[in-house]
Amino acid sequence: MPAQTFDVVVIGGGHNGLVCAAYLARAGLTVKVLERRGVVGGAAVTEEFHPGFRNSVAAYSVSLLNPKVIADLDLYAHGLRIVERPAMNFLPLPDGGHLLTGEGRTQSEIAKFSQADADRYDAYCDALTRIADILRGLVLTAPPNVERGSTLRALRELLHLGTLGNRLRQLDLEEQRLLLDLFTRPAAEFLSDWFESEPIKALLGFDSIVGNYASPFDPGTAYVLLHHAFGEVNGKKGAWGHAMGGMGAITQAMAKAAVAHGADIETDAEVAELVIERGTAVGVALKSGQVVKGGALAANVNLKLLYTQLTPDDALPRDFAARMARFKCGSGTFRMNVALSELPSFTALPGKTAGPQHGAGIVIGPSLAYMDQAYRDARAHGWSRAPIIEMLIPSTLDDSLAPPGAHVASLFCQHVAPELPSGRSWDEARDEVADLMIATVDDYAPGFAQSVIARQALSPLDLEREFGLVGGDIFHGALSQNQVFSSRPMLGYADYRGPLSGLYHCGSGAHPGGGVTGAPGHNAARVILADLKRRSFSSSI
Ligand SMILES: Cc1cc2nc3c(=O)[nH]c(=O)nc-3n(C[C@H](O)[C@H](O)[C@H](O)COP(=O)(O)OP(=O)(O)OC[C@H]3O[C@@H](n4cnc5c(N)ncnc54)[C@H](O)[C@@H]3O)c2cc1C
Repeated sequence: MPAQTFDVVVIGGGHNGLVCAAYLARAGLTVKVLERRGVVGGAAVTEEFHPGFRNSVAAYSVSLLNPKVIADLDLYAHGLRIVERPAMNFLPLPDGGHLLTGEGRTQSEIAKFSQADADRYDAYCDALTRIADILRGLVLTAPPNVERGSTLRALRELLHLGTLGNRLRQLDLEEQRLLLDLFTRPAAEFLSDWFESEPIKALLGFDSIVGNYASPFDPGTAYVLLHHAFGEVNGKKGAWGHAMGGMGAITQAMAKAAVAHGADIETDAEVAELVIERGTAVGVALKSGQVVKGGALAANVNLKLLYTQLTPDDALPRDFAARMARFKCGSGTFRMNVALSELPSFTALPGKTAGPQHGAGIVIGPSLAYMDQAYRDARAHGWSRAPIIEMLIPSTLDDSLAPPGAHVASLFCQHVAPELPSGRSWDEARDEVADLMIATVDDYAPGFAQSVIARQALSPLDLEREFGLVGGDIFHGALSQNQVFSSRPMLGYADYRGPLSGLYHCGSGAHPGGGVTGAPGHNAARVILADLKRRSFSSSI
């Protein structure tokens, strides 16, 4: 078969690949998206996991999706609708107490545990919002890149660094200190500066371990908390919501936008290897044997997968290859989708008819010490004997997901070891761990286990096999200090350009990292357009 040729070939049809493709096609380039699975969307998909029951099988909640991406790609016109939750979070406690947060109720709920904490809550939100605003200002631009020598590019990066420095100088000293705290400190310490009661610290601290295989007492976890705070839902900063039809509605809208601009999307098209000619990436060979050539390649796949499995061994600079082999992937996540015959009734807030607690992000993880123990357990044993679970029941907001009267729930579970001790396979442990997750929810909502009609369990290994998420890492690589901002994926390669000319990074392995943001895809498109000399379009992104 003769090779097909396009201006740009996008490897992977996850949401960032689709966003990148849509922007490039909008600028008039010919773009081909190659997706391994039978459906586009990557980790943001809606699938039927049991007859009649559909769910967002991996990513399950929306907040981080950038408003500019929504507007530029006209996602609402392509069918996207995002609704807010009736309550933000529900934290049932083992002693029968609970914390139920959301508009108009958070302060009074916190006051049940500490009036001082309730009084400080607004100031905490203001501080976090101020810092999250800085992050918001940085997510849609490439971070300053480390360039050696005195080339024009190095000079440009120096100016870029100066601009960033100037921006940070506009913060007052207290804000600069806060920023430093959030980038470096343990979430547990940071939260203890603000609050004295455990339930509010646990509820806020949960964000610091989502997709982060760490204890909230570990340095750097405050940054992950911040990472989960820079989003918004329908203009409400920091809020989380539900995409009607599930997360797949987001990526289907993105695919429609890309196709409307002329992009060509092919599913069941697995890339087997990059085609490299004289140090330049010029195309890809599919598993089918077909070769697709591109003036540029944009990799949406996990970068560790790209460089350790899809790139010929001798094509990479040795230092890059060695560092990429050590790139930390493994977010400690186990994911379940369950079909339910009825809604759970929580000991802490009983009732089987839909109440605000059922529409909230239900967090099982009553204290920071519990979360610390969960991590220690997973390190020693392979998984936490008392795991942390966020449960969402999206069918309470969206009747397209389950038959009338029945429900679907997402269980997002931490902590499990990306690889089990003693070489045990996740294929052997999956069912035992899935039983534990169900039993853990049942402890807080007796009868839950009985109401489970069917379940899908995705171990870290399943997440890797099904979605290409190396080590099951939901973010395409840990958001640790050495893997964020100018060092994502590593120092010297933060500008969306890979070590091979013609090869770009447009997925979550690039700044600002994982989550359904669309930001890496947006930023990579800008760089590709600049390099392909479509500067007028590049500056219009
Ligand atoms: C269990 C789980 C829960 C999450 N929860 C949330 C959440 O609630 N909210 C949120 O904002 N984020 C969440 N995330 C994170 C978020 O979903 C991801 O960080 C994000 O979707 C990654 O998008 P991406 O486009 O960069 O990559 P991906 O979605 O990983 O897309 C990469 C694509 O490349 C394809 N691919 C892989 N190999 C090949 C190949 N050889 N050839 C061709 N194609 C290939 C894959 O099939 C995939 O479609 C969650 C993730 C997971 C896994």
